[in-house]
Amino acid sequence: MAPARKTSPKRTEEDSSAPPLHPLQRKPFLLLHICCGPCSTHVIDLLKDKYHPIGFFYNPNLHPKQEYFRRLEATAQVCRQHRAALWVPPFGEEAWLDGVKGLEGEPEGGGRCNICIRLRLEATAWVAKAASLTAFATTLTISPRKNSHVINALGTDLSKSYDISFLEADFKKKDGFLKSVQKSKDLGLYRQDYCGCCYSMRKRELSHQ
Ligand code: SF4
Repeated sequence: MAPARKTSPKRTEEDSSAPPLHPLQRKPFLLLHICCGPCSTHVIDLLKDKYHPIGFFYNPNLHPKQEYFRRLEATAQVCRQHRAALWVPPFGEEAWLDGVKGLEGEPEGGGRCNICIRLRLEATAWVAKAASLTAFATTLTISPRKNSHVINALGTDLSKSYDISFLEADFKKKDGFLKSVQKSKDLGLYRQDYCGCCYSMRKRELSHQ
């Protein structure tokens, strides 16, 4: 796994060279945007050798509110297991609804999703910078349904805007997703069957009819 970076597009989480650390700073702190408990299992396992990951559960896209709390509880369970801190900012649904206005009919992976992901990553970058952490990252690329190139491009762009390193990754590689599924089963975690917003929930319901 590589050090987080701000600009070079060629270095990834699989690189092995890490910057020298101050003797008092054994591992740098990284703010990890977590979309749900199952996705965080394997990602934290991958990160914790080189970083102190701090979980950041900012997902104003989640609908309904009970779903938000179910995913938050599963995330807290994983963070407890790893003895990792978990920061949970206010829900912030209004900002999300404002951001995706006019894009309600977009397919999954389209313009609405780009805004949804950017909004969540931007809050992560802002908080990581404000807290003087070393870097930020997201669990989102572990999903086979998420385009890692789009997510990494968004993170890199925010890295420049907020002057904080972003850890580029494609956590689904090397059976990452399958490993997260197995680890979630072992922990008995709740695993959702739709992406998260009301539009993806409706699509799931229609597909079950
Ligand atoms: S489908 Fe998923 S990524 Fe796209 S807008 Fe809905 S919650 Fe966000």
